[in-house]
Amino acid sequence: MEEKKALLIVDVQNDFCPGGALAVPEGDKIVPILNKYMMIFSKKKWPIFASRDWHPKESKHFKKFGGPWPEHCIQNTKGAGLHPDLRLPKETILLSKGMDPDKDSYSAFQAVDAKGTGFFELLKSSGINGLFVGGLATDYCVKSSVLDALKHVFKVKLLMDAIRGVNINPEDSEQAIEEMVRGGAEKMTLQELSQYEKNRKPGR
Ligand SMILES: [Zn+2]
Repeated sequence: MEEKKALLIVDVQNDFCPGGALAVPEGDKIVPILNKYMMIFSKKKWPIFASRDWHPKESKHFKKFGGPWPEHCIQNTKGAGLHPDLRLPKETILLSKGMDPDKDSYSAFQAVDAKGTGFFELLKSSGINGLFVGGLATDYCVKSSVLDALKHVFKVKLLMDAIRGVNINPEDSEQAIEEMVRGGAEKMTLQELSQYEKNRKPGR
C-alpha cells in the first residue's frame, strides 16, 4: 500500500520558545527547518497539521491549581500564539488541546480542529497512514503524540532536526527518542526527505 503522508507540527508556540513562560532551550531554532518541511509538504499537497496547547486560565495542569507546570499557552494570549516566523500554508489544519481544566493533554491525538473533530478521525477520513512529526517538546508533547500515532498503527517519521526537548533531567530527550524508536518510529532529517523525494520516479 502506498504511504499517504501528513506533517504534524507540535506546539511551536511563543510560550515554548525562548522568552516564553515555559521555554524549551533553542525551541525557536526549529522554525526555519519546519518551514522547509512545510514547503515540501505544501508542494506535494500533503496535509499539514499544527497543534497548539490552548489552556483556560484556570487549569489543574498549572502549579497554581495543583498541577506540574507554570501557567502557559492561555487561550488568546500572546504566549499561546504560534511562533511568528512559522510560515504555515493557508491549508494548514490547526488543532487545539488542553481546553479541559481537569485534564493534562500532551498528545495531538487529544486535540481537535475548529469544528471539534479529533485528530485521529481527521487522519482516518483522509486515508493518511504516514505521519511526519516535529515540534516541541521532544520529551513531552512530541513523545506523547508519536507514541499515540504508533498505537494507532501509523508509520511515524521523527524529524530529528525539527524537535527540541525541555530536559528537566539532562537525558530526557534522548530517552524519549529511544522510546519512540523502540515503539517503531523512524528517524528522519530534511536532507534525507529531500534526497528521497528527488530519487522517486515522477508520477508516483
Ligand atoms: Zn500545557
